[in-house]
Amino acid sequence: MNITIIDPWLAHGERRKPLTGIILHHTAGGSAESSIEHLREIGLSYHYIVERDGRVFKCAPISGRAYHAGVSVGKYGDNVNSQTVGISFANDGVGEAYPAAQLRAAHELIDAILSVHKEIEWISAHRLITERKADPAHFSFVEFCSEHPSLEKWRDETLGRDWDG
Ligand SMILES: [Zn+2]
Repeated sequence: MNITIIDPWLAHGERRKPLTGIILHHTAGGSAESSIEHLREIGLSYHYIVERDGRVFKCAPISGRAYHAGVSVGKYGDNVNSQTVGISFANDGVGEAYPAAQLRAAHELIDAILSVHKEIEWISAHRLITERKADPAHFSFVEFCSEHPSLEKWRDETLGRDWDG
């Protein structure tokens, strides 16, 4: 996996709850680099951004709370940022497809995270934890989980809610 660690990190704080999950997003932007600069300006963050060609940018330490989910309710209630790792696909958010290299890199990244953080036991998409958001758009969360052995166990949790699938 090709991971670039950005320096300095994007904005983040201390976790106030134990890490338990992963939330997927899209950037609604151009290149990962341009999204990183935009996030830096507005003070928001993901832990990782996965570029279309499969390059991964690590933007905040997993030990910290990144600012990606806003007001949302996940498996263990609110304060979702404190409880999750935020991973965003570089994607324009208005119909762009997710290339195979990008999906493959995201699967590899999630495997790498799970191998270290065995406390993680749920994964979801931003649009599935708040009605305010539609990301990742044009992305089947059910398919994403079905296509990868380590995620299959989470597939059924979102069946029936995955309206983009
Ligand atoms: Zn989002």
